[in-house]
Amino acid sequence: MRPGSDFDVAVAGGGVVGGTLAALLGGFGLGVALIEAGEPPLGPTDPEDARVLALTRASERVLRAIGAWHTIESEPIGCFREMRVWDEGGSGAIHFDSAEIGEPTLGYIVPARLIEAAVCAVHRHLPAVTAFRPARLETIAWGRERVDLRLADGRGFSARLVVGADGAASRVRALAGIEERVRDYHQSAVCCTAVSEKPHGEVARQRFLETGPLAFLPLADPQRSAIVWSTQSEAAQLLLQESDHDFRKRLTAAFDSALGAIVETGPRTAFPLVRGYASRYTGERVALVGDAAHRIHPLAGQGANLGVMDAATLAEVLQDAHRAGSDLGELRVLRRYERWRKGENTAMMLVMDLFKEVFGTGLAPVRLLRNLGLSATDAAIPLTRWIMRRAAGLEGDLPRLALETARVQGRRSDRGGW
Ligand SMILES: Cc1cc2nc3c(=O)[nH]c(=O)nc-3n(C[C@H](O)[C@H](O)[C@H](O)COP(=O)(O)OP(=O)(O)OC[C@H]3O[C@@H](n4cnc5c(N)ncnc54)[C@H](O)[C@@H]3O)c2cc1C
Repeated sequence: MRPGSDFDVAVAGGGVVGGTLAALLGGFGLGVALIEAGEPPLGPTDPEDARVLALTRASERVLRAIGAWHTIESEPIGCFREMRVWDEGGSGAIHFDSAEIGEPTLGYIVPARLIEAAVCAVHRHLPAVTAFRPARLETIAWGRERVDLRLADGRGFSARLVVGADGAASRVRALAGIEERVRDYHQSAVCCTAVSEKPHGEVARQRFLETGPLAFLPLADPQRSAIVWSTQSEAAQLLLQESDHDFRKRLTAAFDSALGAIVETGPRTAFPLVRGYASRYTGERVALVGDAAHRIHPLAGQGANLGVMDAATLAEVLQDAHRAGSDLGELRVLRRYERWRKGENTAMMLVMDLFKEVFGTGLAPVRLLRNLGLSATDAAIPLTRWIMRRAAGLEGDLPRLALETARVQGRRSDRGGW
C-alpha cells in the first residue's frame, strides 16, 4: 500500500454511520480514506443543526467501543427510562419501563452534531484514518483488484473497497448502478425543541393522531423536549408558518396537555418522510451502509441505530476477512454483511410501515382493533419485554461490538475469536 494514495477502504460520507465505520476500521489498523462533503462539525451547540437522535443501548456500546461515548456523555444529554405510547381516539396504550428488563435506561436523546463531533475527534487520533473534508466524491472506476476514486477538487486515490455511507441521495449507490426503491409517505416531520409546564420525568412519549405520530423526547433539561411531529406535507408547511404563540397552543392541544401547556418553542424545521431501500447492499468492491442502503419512517427513532449496526457488522466482517488474508472487496466477503443486515433492516422497515398503516386510518373497526392490539400488548408482559429489548437494541442478531459483555464471551468462542 502506498501511504497517502492507496487505501484498504474508502468510506464516502462522514455522518454518524460513515464516521463510526471509519473509526472502527481505522482502529483495526486498516488504511481508511474518509470523504465528507461537509465542514467538520462545530459540536453540540452548532446552530446550523438542531437534529437529535434517539440512540439505543446497542449504539451506545458501539460508540463506546470506538472511544466516542465518553465525549458524548460529558455533555448534558437526555436519557429515557420509560416510553409511553397512546392514541388520540381510544383507550389503548403501551407503557415500557426499563426497570422491567433490569436496565437503568432504554436509550438516550443526543444531538446528531454532538455524535458527529465526538466521532470526528476519534479520527484525529487514528493515524490509519485520512480524512478528506470538505471534499465531494465525484467518480469511481472499477478495476479488477481496486477501485479508483476521484474527488470534485481533482484529487484521486485507490482502495480495495468503497463504502457508500453518503446518505439518502447516495452517489456511490448511483455510480454502482444499484437501484433504490422509494415510497413517498407524502408526510413531513416538523422538528423543534419545546419547554413544557410539567417536567418530562425522563419519559419518551408518543401520541398517535389521525394525521400521524407526535413524539416528545426528553432532553437533559427536565422541562425541555425534542419534538418530532409527523403529518401531511401541506399541514407541516402550515405548522412551520404559524406564529410561535399559535404553534404552542396547537402543540399543547395535539399532545392533549400531557405535559401541561407548552410555554416555549425553538426554531422549527421540516424533513420530508420517504421510505427507501436499495435493491442490494453490495457489489464487486462496493458496499452500502446507513441511509444509503435504507430509509425508514422516524416513528420509532431507529434509522441511525440501524445504520450504526450496519457499520459495526461490516467492520466485523472485514476484520474477519483481513485476518483470514481474504480480499476485502471480494463479493463473497461482502455478501456475508448483506445477508446479515438486510433481513434485520427489512423487518424493521415492515414493522414501521405496519404501525403507520394501522395508525394512519380513521376507520372505526381498525381503530378498535388497534386499541385492542395496543392494550393486549401491554397485558402480554413477555411480548412487551421482547419488544422493549428489541427497541433498546438489546435483542436481535447483533454484531460483536454491540453485544452485552456476558453475551460477547459466548459469541467470541462461537465465532472463533475476535
Ligand atoms: C425527522 C427525523 C427524525 C429522526 N430521528 C431519528 C432518531 O431519533 N433515531 C435514529 O436512529 N434515527 C432517526 N432518524 C434517522 C436518521 O436521521 C438517519 O437514519 C441517519 O442520520 C442516517 O445517517 P447516515 O450517516 O447514513 O446519513 P447522513 O446523516 O445523511 O450522512 C451522509 C453524509 O454523507 C455526506 N455526503 C453525501 N454525498 C457525498 C459525496 N458525494 N461525497 C462526500 N460526502 C457526501 C453528507 O455530507 C453527509 O454528511 C430521523 C430521521 C428524520 C427525518
